[in-house]
Amino acid sequence: MDMVAKSAPGTFERLRLVLFMAASAACVVAAFTPRLAIAEPVTAADLISASASDSGANWLTHGRDYAETRFSPLDQINADNVSDLGLAWTLDTGSTRGLEATPLVADGVLYFTLPWSIVIAFDANSGEQLWQHDPQVDRSIGWKACCDVVNRGVALYDDKLYFGALDGRLIALDADTGEPVWTVQTTDVGRPYTITGAPRVADGLVIIGNGGAELGSRGYVTAYDAETGAERWRFWVVPGNPADGFENEDVERAAATWSGNWWDVGGGGNAWDAIAYDPEARLIYVGTGNGSPWSHELRSDGVGDNLYLSSIVALHVETGRVAWHYQTTPGDNWDYTATQQLTLATLAIDGVERQVIMQAPKNGFFYVLDRITGELLSAEPYARVTWASGIDPDTGRPIETPQARYSEAVSVISPSPVGAHGWQPMSFSPETGLVYIPTQSNSYNYAIKAEFEYTPGVWNRGTATGLLDALRRFPESDYGEGTGPPHPTIGQLLAWDPVARRVRWQVDYPTHSNGGTLATAGNLVFQGTAAGHLLAYRADTGETLWDVDLGQGILAPPITYLVGDRQFLSVLVGWGGATALYGYNGSGEYKAPGRLWTFVLGGGQDFDPVRGIERPTLTAIDYDDRRSVQARGGNLYAERCAMCHGGNAVGGGVLADLRYSGEAVFTIFEMIVNAGLYSEVGMPRFGDVLTVADTSAIRNYLLAQRAALIAAQ
Ligand code: CA
Repeated sequence: MDMVAKSAPGTFERLRLVLFMAASAACVVAAFTPRLAIAEPVTAADLISASASDSGANWLTHGRDYAETRFSPLDQINADNVSDLGLAWTLDTGSTRGLEATPLVADGVLYFTLPWSIVIAFDANSGEQLWQHDPQVDRSIGWKACCDVVNRGVALYDDKLYFGALDGRLIALDADTGEPVWTVQTTDVGRPYTITGAPRVADGLVIIGNGGAELGSRGYVTAYDAETGAERWRFWVVPGNPADGFENEDVERAAATWSGNWWDVGGGGNAWDAIAYDPEARLIYVGTGNGSPWSHELRSDGVGDNLYLSSIVALHVETGRVAWHYQTTPGDNWDYTATQQLTLATLAIDGVERQVIMQAPKNGFFYVLDRITGELLSAEPYARVTWASGIDPDTGRPIETPQARYSEAVSVISPSPVGAHGWQPMSFSPETGLVYIPTQSNSYNYAIKAEFEYTPGVWNRGTATGLLDALRRFPESDYGEGTGPPHPTIGQLLAWDPVARRVRWQVDYPTHSNGGTLATAGNLVFQGTAAGHLLAYRADTGETLWDVDLGQGILAPPITYLVGDRQFLSVLVGWGGATALYGYNGSGEYKAPGRLWTFVLGGGQDFDPVRGIERPTLTAIDYDDRRSVQARGGNLYAERCAMCHGGNAVGGGVLADLRYSGEAVFTIFEMIVNAGLYSEVGMPRFGDVLTVADTSAIRNYLLAQRAALIAAQ
């Protein structure tokens, strides 16, 4: 089937093709699919040479190359012709949860992941799905995922495909058939660990981290033999209980920077996304996460740097032992993960070529380090930052502002826990020398929760759950109830010059939590937005060259590759993730179905954006409006429900906005919440932690919010 030739079918036929492919993908069953294509095995040499100028046909590893540049040398689609891009094909995913994956491409075969860690292989040559593998993650553990049941992708090596399942398994599949080869449980299933990140393969090892710092866990990164799944090494990001002994000297050194009983909650540091590799230096680079709990005072008596939280850590690939570390946020107190993408490059700094590693972590500073020695070369704020006035170039340490530690009052601090940059990848073009970063400026009302104690099954942040809770804890604070966050959240695309340490151009968006970026040799930067637009910009100037409306918000980064001799652009579109679950919805669509979109020069121009479902018309339901019931329900909702169904009961368009629930839901509310009636679709059972009276209070709180919505309509 030739779906893209210039002699292509007219609009009608093209549309039919799109519909056919969408329908066929939905019903294909893996075991009965005829073999249509086999990608050549991915060798170690292929992975090392993935950054070469003739490597553009494929996208073999998460960041396209070990340097994680997300730069494609392809230039068939370029600044002169990008406006001719049109639709090649689409694939409906059958999911309404967040889509965050970077597809990999080998010889025209796309491998990508969906929510609940489902893996799909799709042959772009023929337009057929090759296989689908569902690891059957128990939907009742969805609550362990702080930030949606997402998955960011797979790794390819030799004849195998590797991915992490949400429940902590690392699974190797036969890349041709999707049949499992080996599986290891990488986590303690008794703790709230998840895997959402893509594994990387380096030196014959599959390297995988985990998430879980919000709920309470001890982060680590493990390397497994790619052939057998045997464990080779583990890097513990934070120490465990010293009474149990230390795993090695790296952990012992870290323990000297901690105080208190941090191991009760876990300490955190979970490395859930960023991994890069320098095959010449034989160093693995890992970006580590925030403290668990967030509050430094509750976690470590307010004492010590708490290594290796919020750090860029270089590990020897043979041993997993620390070569050097740089801590971006000593004594993390704000959920400032340094798990954001790590990118390797060669930059001329002060006239000297340096092998650097770059990161724009949540804390708002853009770091450039010598990646061999760990020396700090520069650190400049790239967004609104109020927790530190700068980074001392001599010590490499932040210069904290007086309001940064919030033990005595509510403190309004930028960035917020969402960060100035999320997991959405940046890209680096060696041709422009610019880094294209999806950023945002924001703030948050931090307040300590002094009566904190570790509670299994909930977020253990040690901080107030929102502005009203913060003000309740610190009523003397000098700004009034209802003023909200004093700094509005603003989303931007920055073209950052890492040598000059400043912005070259920027795009201001009305939305935040926008998608990851792709840079190409066609002098282009591609990015999707939370409003659902996919855009192309001139990489050197920022001029908008192409803009299509795909409907719902876009998080995932686009990729580009060749099928035959034609360049394609693909992006997964599915709103979700942490900010969406907490209630932010940039497009306003509700439960819109996820889709993989693929574009090509000369493709179809006649396509419709994907829309969500209509919100139902609301009818009033009687409820108990006594203040004591409402306060109890509101507090319980904030603690148990808000992280998935939205702050203040306002949903972000992914999961049910509970104000809109049908009358039947409110009739059987206690069965759903306490008895786990909907556990098969990911709604946890709360019967062990909520009483019938608790659940009744939550129900009454929700009905009050529903009544307020009706009154406002
Ligand atoms: Ca976090």
